[in-house]
Amino acid sequence: MGSAEEFPSRAKIIAVNREQVKALDEAHVLPLYRRQAPLFVRGAGMRLYDDAGQEYLDFLAGIAVNALGHCHPAMVEALTEQAQTLIHTSNGLLTEPQARLAQRLTQITGMEKVFFANCGATAMETALKIAKKRAAQLGKTEFISLERSFHGRTLGALSATGQAKYQDPFRPLIPGFGHIPANDLDALRSAIGPQTAGLIFEPVQGEGGLTVLSDDWIREARRLCDEHGALLIVDEVQTGMGRTGDWLAIHRSGVTPDLLVLAKALGGGVPIGACLTHGEASQVLGATEHGTTYGGNALMTAVALRVVEEIAKLLPAVATKGEFLAETLKALPGVVEVRGRGLMCGAVLDRPIARDIVRDALEAGLVINATDESTLRFVPPLIVEEKHIREMGALLGSVLAN
Ligand code: PLP
Repeated sequence: MGSAEEFPSRAKIIAVNREQVKALDEAHVLPLYRRQAPLFVRGAGMRLYDDAGQEYLDFLAGIAVNALGHCHPAMVEALTEQAQTLIHTSNGLLTEPQARLAQRLTQITGMEKVFFANCGATAMETALKIAKKRAAQLGKTEFISLERSFHGRTLGALSATGQAKYQDPFRPLIPGFGHIPANDLDALRSAIGPQTAGLIFEPVQGEGGLTVLSDDWIREARRLCDEHGALLIVDEVQTGMGRTGDWLAIHRSGVTPDLLVLAKALGGGVPIGACLTHGEASQVLGATEHGTTYGGNALMTAVALRVVEEIAKLLPAVATKGEFLAETLKALPGVVEVRGRGLMCGAVLDRPIARDIVRDALEAGLVINATDESTLRFVPPLIVEEKHIREMGALLGSVLAN
């Protein structure tokens, strides 16, 4: 495989007009996203291109999705081959790619069974339904998750999420969810008990500012869940599939969850999510008690299978690249702290100007985002090389210095 710069991707053949597209978008799409100005028409490797031909270095990767960068040849090949073979049947019919992907995922995660969903939120919803059914059988009523956590926008996942700005417009949410601070062992010990149905967390909080949970906290969480008969539900939608340097961030602490939630990098850009089960959690749902039309269809799972194979080749270098990314960020003007693990980093600024910096960086040809007013997030494709990290440092350094 050549360098990411050499990925072939087709130049847009029809002339597009930025103003026309903007007008269509504003007239017809619900205004839920604060869209940035450029019109993106093409991607190749680490780069995105807009309609004016300007090149951008992508350190956001569709928010930790494009693990292989843009238009990776292996992904394009898998998409094309499967599109010409079998795209979709129904989950009532047996197909090969889904079974093979399930086998591969259980092998790399140490989990036992898989349910395929369409995205992170629907995979999380699956985990919560499993935990809720079991809770009803055992007379358990409470779920614990973390402050500043993010688990998705569907009502169950939103109830688990610990951020008022996403939750408040939709109250009352599902009852029984309480939130405790991250890494606080005393808070965990006093919240958990025989009434606890499940404990939910992200090993590194993605939307919540890149806070890393300590191995001690994670191991104690596992021990307390065992002691009280609660299910440990680990959300690796953002951290999973190699991003932190291991297949799963949780692998570092040697803990096996009862329920594991994956999405984002698993599909490398095609929509797919997965809820994986271990032990008792594999036995809870029976036939017809949960399901989805598209989840795990032949096209998505065939592509994901190839994505997994390509990530396996990139995985050994992720930790080293991550260290170089963290060192580069630490050296930038105005950066007071760098958080995260592997290729999942947050740079905390000395002033609440992160959103302005994201806008100025985009103008300078760098795609990043902000998790709050003072934290910049960096989740580049796993194909990133040292030269891209240096280039990013130079671009961002001049934006921050201005
Ligand atoms: N869980 C985590 C940790 C996430 O970061 C996200 C999305 O950002 C989700 C769940 C929800 O995933 P989706 O947007 O695919 O529904």
